[in-house]
Amino acid sequence: MEVSGRSCPFCLIAAGNADRRLAYEDEEIVAFEDINPQAPHHLLIVPRKHMQSLLEIEEEDAALVGRLVLVANRIARDRGIDLSGFRLVVNCNPDGGQTVYHLHLHLLGGRRMGWPPG
Ligand code: AMP
Ligand code: ZN
Repeated sequence: MEVSGRSCPFCLIAAGNADRRLAYEDEEIVAFEDINPQAPHHLLIVPRKHMQSLLEIEEEDAALVGRLVLVANRIARDRGIDLSGFRLVVNCNPDGGQTVYHLHLHLLGGRRMGWPPG
């Protein structure tokens, strides 16, 4: 489990130290392709601020977390999967399926999703 920004793979990517192309970036947020895609479009939308999980979000982060969704919408529109549809997922802790402990939104699209999730 990653516990600090220094050893965190998503902090490294956000800092530009991981040789990964960014699909989107601004002062607060980066987005990039998931290394193990589960759909034709699978991006991770990541705040530059290191928060381990949903549970570390505080009142002062509310606008930032809202902006993660705005960035997801923008990418979905840019990729033409807005009208066909897409899914946003945040996994939290082991039962939620979280494996990287830096808060991130999965944007999945380009195929029909099943429900209930696995
Ligand atoms: P989660 O299981 O919700 O914590 O999601 C972590 C996601 O990060 C998984 O879908 C991994 O495939 C993805 N991932 C892990 N390391 C990297 C990396 N270095 N670059 C891009 N995606 C990664
Ligand atoms: Zn981090």
